[in-house]
Amino acid sequence: MDAHVRTWLKTPLAILHADAAGGLVIDGAKIVECLPAGAMPATPVDAVQDLSRHVVLPGLINTHHHMYQTLTRAHPAAINRELFDWLKALYPVWARVVTPDSFRLATRLALTELLLSGCTTAADHQYLFPPGLEGALDIQATEAGAIGMRMTLMRGSMNLSVKDGGLPPDSVVQDQDTILCDSERVIGRYHQAEEGAMLQVALAPCSPFSVTPALMRESAELATRCGCRLHTHLGETHDEDAFCEARFGCRPVDYLEQNGWLHDRTWLAHGVHFRAEEIGRLGGAGVGVCHCPTSNMLLASGQCRTRELEAAGAPLGLGVDGSASNDGSNLMQEVRQALLLNRLTYGTAVTHLDALRWATEGSARCLGRTDIGRIAVGAQADLACFTLDELRFSGAGDPLAALVLCGAHRADRVMVAGQWRVVDGQPLGIDVEELRRQHGNISLNL
Ligand code: ZN
Repeated sequence: MDAHVRTWLKTPLAILHADAAGGLVIDGAKIVECLPAGAMPATPVDAVQDLSRHVVLPGLINTHHHMYQTLTRAHPAAINRELFDWLKALYPVWARVVTPDSFRLATRLALTELLLSGCTTAADHQYLFPPGLEGALDIQATEAGAIGMRMTLMRGSMNLSVKDGGLPPDSVVQDQDTILCDSERVIGRYHQAEEGAMLQVALAPCSPFSVTPALMRESAELATRCGCRLHTHLGETHDEDAFCEARFGCRPVDYLEQNGWLHDRTWLAHGVHFRAEEIGRLGGAGVGVCHCPTSNMLLASGQCRTRELEAAGAPLGLGVDGSASNDGSNLMQEVRQALLLNRLTYGTAVTHLDALRWATEGSARCLGRTDIGRIAVGAQADLACFTLDELRFSGAGDPLAALVLCGAHRADRVMVAGQWRVVDGQPLGIDVEELRRQHGNISLNL
């Protein structure tokens, strides 16, 4: 669709909007009308597309990932381990295998997987900078532009290695000056503050056990100065609690507060092991949490207190987490995982609509955005459209529930900023078989 062409996406089979049974009018990159059943667009349209086979969601938003890990899925050295042992097994592998070429293919593959699952905005926590990979975020910006997805580039960092009492080896850490200097560079080059931004930058020191408190503080100050957001792993395991208590004499949330992170420009990955009063402090401050159900189950980390966090005021989003602690990058599948895991925690108080809301509005709030994550007049035209004609949906009643309960995992059409990026289940401009071959080959030879 060209800019300023008004297109009526007509009469969807179902749509995640209270009153848009008649469809949507898209003008350029935005939704300009949500039509009730039987209504006609207020002004003439240039084109009409029939969505009567499609269940339409706002484009899904992934708020935590490590795309380079597509290179080490189901790695024999790491399967069946919990987080700290899993990381110690994989750090040296990553230091060796993540090169500019493999990183580019890993990013392209993960973005394509996400896009095909209905994801239109992806945040990647890239904290691994072995020698030679200094331009990692430049590679990701190029790849996101080529595929046409929105991306929050997270300038991750690690500066606390084993010799200083941290978890990662020397081969994957950088010094503080290098990290802060490059952080400032990528913010200046890629961070778009305006509505409809295709690229944003967040600063993302990796975790309490891989960065120094000084780097946490300096990153927070730089983010404030540059108007960007902060992200880190927190509250993921009991091992992390023990590390913080031994090294810093406090719990992870205290550590966050002491270093200037307890505010509404921060969102955290995981947030599993918080006490009730800590949930109150996080929610009161507006700190967001990205819930990563598959990763938390696979690494046996625990169950995030999603409802308590939301009730306390914390934005709650969804993330697939890294492709080695999920072994997939499919956000629609993650919606189903979120529903199922939260049923164990909360019973039927959590519904499929909650899980869909986390992957859309909740994730948008984590990223500090109001222009995406919902279908509404004035919002960006980011849409994920699924059909129900696979065997898995046969016999299904409620179409929105069917997506989650029957296990939708591949969108038929995906629109980002008013442009179709997936049509008939195929990503435009990407040779999926060739990508699979190249990525598979480079992984095998690493
Ligand atoms: Zn992670």
